Amino acid sequence: MTECIFCKIIEGTIPSVKVYEDEHVLAFMDIVPVTKGHVLLIPKTHRENIYDLTAEEAAQLFSVVPKIANAIKDEFKPAGMNLLQNNGAYAGQAVFHSHLHLIPRYDETDGFQ
Ligand code: 5GP
Ligand code: ZN
Repeated sequence: MTECIFCKIIEGTIPSVKVYEDEHVLAFMDIVPVTKGHVLLIPKTHRENIYDLTAEEAAQLFSVVPKIANAIKDEFKPAGMNLLQNNGAYAGQAVFHSHLHLIPRYDETDGFQ
């Protein structure tokens, strides 16, 4: 049995709030959101980080980013959005199943940074 948290989310043994899923990728809400609407996008095949992704897997991930970014934009009306991807502990990677963060950013007057 896998010890990877994100593989368990894919298997459904750990619950998550899914926002998009297809044959190759899964997107779900981050459990500790940096801001309101923070989403994680992962390949369904376990890959530790960017170094292990094939070009095809990278393309499959990125091909759904505009769709998910627009869904976040429509739902939460952020003022901007960051895409972030950490590779290695020294780069801030805590979960070693490759993932892309979509982090909406808000005007300071929204009160939720
Ligand atoms: P990293 O620092 O590895 O780039 O980001 C890992 C992200 O995974 C963090 O933002 C963290 O909040 C999120 N995370 C860790 N465990 C879980 C979990 O069990 N469920 C969900 N939805 N997100 C998680
Ligand atoms: Zn995994």
